[in-house]
Amino acid sequence: MRLPRGYLGDATDPSDPRLLTALPAPEELVADAGDVPDPVGEQGRSPLPWVVRKHPDRVLLLLTKRCHVYCRYCFRRDHQPGEGEDPSETEWNAMLEYARGSGAREAILSGGDPLAIPDARLFAAIDAIRPDVPVIRVHTRAPITAPERVTTRLVAGLRARAPVWVLVHTNHPKELTGPVESALGRLVDAGIPVLNQAVLLRGVNDDVETLVELSQRLVELRVYPYYLHHPDAAPGNAAFRVSESEGMALVERLRARVSGVALPQYVVDPPDGTGKRPVGAYGAAFRG
Ligand code: SF4
Repeated sequence: MRLPRGYLGDATDPSDPRLLTALPAPEELVADAGDVPDPVGEQGRSPLPWVVRKHPDRVLLLLTKRCHVYCRYCFRRDHQPGEGEDPSETEWNAMLEYARGSGAREAILSGGDPLAIPDARLFAAIDAIRPDVPVIRVHTRAPITAPERVTTRLVAGLRARAPVWVLVHTNHPKELTGPVESALGRLVDAGIPVLNQAVLLRGVNDDVETLVELSQRLVELRVYPYYLHHPDAAPGNAAFRVSESEGMALVERLRARVSGVALPQYVVDPPDGTGKRPVGAYGAAFRG
C-alpha cells in the first residue's frame, strides 16, 4: 500500500484519525453479521458499466476506481486497487454518451476519485456532456488527501466550465492542515461552490467536540458542511459503524452547539438503492 506523505502529516499516534481511516487492519478480514454486500444499492441501478442512475435528474459517472487514499470505511471498498481501475475506451465513450442522452440536470463525477485522472481527461468528460447536462458536480477527496492536486490549472479549468460544484470529504479537523486550507481556498476564491460530506465513524469522529470543531472550521474556510453520512455497512468496515440512535443523539448535541450554516444533514444511503434520506423519524417515515 502507498499513502501520500502530505496527508499523514505529523500523524504518528495510532489513534490519529488519519491513520485509523487509512491503514488496513486485520479486523477487516472478519465477516460481520451486519455486512451488506451492496450497501447503498448500486448494482441494480447501473444501466451500464461505470454509471449509476438513482434519480431522473441526476446521473453518477464513475470516472476511475483510483483514489489518493483508500479509505478503510469506504462503501466502494471492492473498487480498491487491482485490475480494471479505469474504463476501457469503449466503456468511457458509452458512459459519456449515456450521460448526454440521460435527460439529467446534474452529472456527479465520482469514482474512485475523479481527480485521480489527468486534468485533460476530466475536462474532456465535462465538455463531452455539455450542454446536455448543465450542472457538474465533482465529488473528490483529493483537496483533503492530496491538496497539491488542486493546481492553478485545475482550478482555472473548473472555473471556465462553471457551473461546477466541488464536494469534498473530510471527517476530522486534523485533516484540515495548512495545505488543505489553501487548496480549499483556491477553489472558493475562484467562485466554485465547495461543500463537504463527512462520514460518522466510530472511534474517529463520533464525539460532539470533534463534530463541532469540524463544522466550525469548515464554515471558517467557506465550505458548507452539507452532509454527515451514517456509515454504510460494507463488508470489512464493521469497526467503524455506529447505530442510528447513537448518531441521532450526537447530531442533537451538535444542533445545540452550532449555527444553521454549520449543521450538516444527517443522512443514510439505504441498500434498497432509493438514495439518501434523513436519519430519524422523518427518514423512517419515508423508509416505509
Ligand atoms: S477517496 Fe472516496 S472513493 Fe476513494 S476510498 Fe476514500 S471514500 Fe472511497
